Amino acid sequence: MPRSTNSSTFFSRRCVLVNGPIIVGAGPSGLATAACLKDQGVPFVILERADCIASLWQRRTYDRLKLHLPKKFCELPLFPFPKDYPEYPNKKQFIEYLESYAKQFGIRPRFNENVKSSRYDEACGLWRVRTTCVNGEVEYMGRWLVAATGENAERMIPEIEGILEFGDGVSHVCDYKSGKEYAGKRVLVVGCGNSGMEVSLDLCDHNAFPSMVVRDSVHVLPCEIFGRSTFEVAVYLMKWLPLWLVDRIVLILSYLVLGNVEKYGLKRPCTGPLELKNTHGKTPVLDIGALGKIKAGEIKIVPGVRRFLPGKVQLVDGTILDIDSVIFATGYNSNVPSWLQGSDFFANDGFPKKPFPNSWKGESGFYAVGFTKKGLLGASFDAVRVAGEIGKVWKEEIRQQKRQGAYHRRCFSQL
Ligand SMILES: Cc1cc2nc3c(=O)[nH]c(=O)nc-3n(C[C@H](O)[C@H](O)[C@H](O)COP(=O)(O)OP(=O)(O)OC[C@H]3O[C@@H](n4cnc5c(N)ncnc54)[C@H](O)[C@@H]3O)c2cc1C
Repeated sequence: MPRSTNSSTFFSRRCVLVNGPIIVGAGPSGLATAACLKDQGVPFVILERADCIASLWQRRTYDRLKLHLPKKFCELPLFPFPKDYPEYPNKKQFIEYLESYAKQFGIRPRFNENVKSSRYDEACGLWRVRTTCVNGEVEYMGRWLVAATGENAERMIPEIEGILEFGDGVSHVCDYKSGKEYAGKRVLVVGCGNSGMEVSLDLCDHNAFPSMVVRDSVHVLPCEIFGRSTFEVAVYLMKWLPLWLVDRIVLILSYLVLGNVEKYGLKRPCTGPLELKNTHGKTPVLDIGALGKIKAGEIKIVPGVRRFLPGKVQLVDGTILDIDSVIFATGYNSNVPSWLQGSDFFANDGFPKKPFPNSWKGESGFYAVGFTKKGLLGASFDAVRVAGEIGKVWKEEIRQQKRQGAYHRRCFSQL
């Protein structure tokens, strides 16, 4: 039962007082936080701009996607993957897992609520969170605010001369589903991260002709080393050895498995893959077959783009290629700076100023979950800590209120 104040017109802003935290985003991070809160009996509200949970996975990823890391590193707190799931669950299985996760903990986000602004109101000691939805605007007010809108909230497309003149056929990888519609086409894939590599592989498998732009250096590692996930091997070694040594070992093992990838145009950065991930959040590419296609010449590696022309691209080395389509696999941005006001917890790049493991807690009851650059494992880690801290305060207050005999629930929340 929302306690809301409707003013004169139906479409004007409603005000909803929330009992417990307001969580923004119903992706894995928001769901994990909600589940951990529920586990402690803390009520909450989740606001989600899309019409479903995990909208990144349901709406903005390609069909052939599987988790890049073994399932044990991707499990959310308190609820394991089904036993019969493979080591690398596919997109459909992961979405099913998240659906059952939400069901298990009775999580019901308020869908189609796009958070436009939020600020802490010192006068009343509450966060004021404004959303737009079909019926106009709503203002939610609550003591705690949890940002769980993800590192991949908005597509990022670099400004490149001539892109508007190129013509139809320019898209971002978040709109790519499968290579079916590209059969027979010459496709320029801009970006060589995990998505760029996998989309190029998928295009090959659907008889398209991809050229992949590799502007900078990139670490390509085998997905598995002698039957063990490379990630798992690295995590294991890091328990005993310093990071620089683990990097060396991983690179030597990668060389044994993949050979010298530099001769195919995939120059390695000077910094090791784990150190680069730790310092710059740059994820190494885990090869799931694209390298074989590069070696076979089916995926062409080309240097950076200078400009686009109608139906063509000019590369930085002056070469001009005829192409039919362009897919930007150039990543995403976090959108927190666009809606979080009056707080300097987040930097302009959309990430907390303090790196992991201190990126979860701000001031005045503000928390961030899933901005660790460490995937689902980092999100789960944050969620447990955030819910633990809020739960402690919540339980203490309930105890005091009970002692004073003054406890009654007055506001809206989901519990
Ligand atoms: C293609 C791909 C593959 C990946 N594979 C793996 C993997 O195998 N293992 C791994 O550990 N990590 C992986 N990651 C990284 C990361 O774990 C996932 O991106 C994961 O979905 C992050 O969860 P999240 O909840 O933090 O963010 P998201 O999944 O992005 O969820 C955020 C939610 O917030 C909503 N939202 C955003 N802005 C607003 C707003 N203003 N108002 C209301 N709602 C809003 C969004 O609609 C979305 O539903 C992958 C990422 C990508 C892009």
